[in-house]
Amino acid sequence: MKQVGTLNYLRNSNLLEIVWLDGRSLQIEGQKLRLACKCGDCSSDRQRDLPPADAERAFRVKAIEAVGSYGIRLFFEDGHNRGIYPWRYLEQIGDMDIERRLPI
Ligand SMILES: [Zn+2]
Repeated sequence: MKQVGTLNYLRNSNLLEIVWLDGRSLQIEGQKLRLACKCGDCSSDRQRDLPPADAERAFRVKAIEAVGSYGIRLFFEDGHNRGIYPWRYLEQIGDMDIERRLPI
């Protein structure tokens, strides 16, 4: 697995930026992060094709918390904070096309 060097949230452009120790970087839109959230609530919303109620705030990141060396937990501005994002999953999301159906 790739090692994480630095992690930034670019508030103005609403992008999470991960810089790996090998110098490569990845930017993921807030919307994509939220739509890829794997918590039970978001998974069941996706199964029913329900978008987040407050999309404006749902797609913006308020805070980031480390989850050991495993990954991060994201706090969204609409109060949602149940999503845990392993580094490996973030790498996968980064490569995904947002138009494509995200995994449930
Ligand atoms: Zn969620």
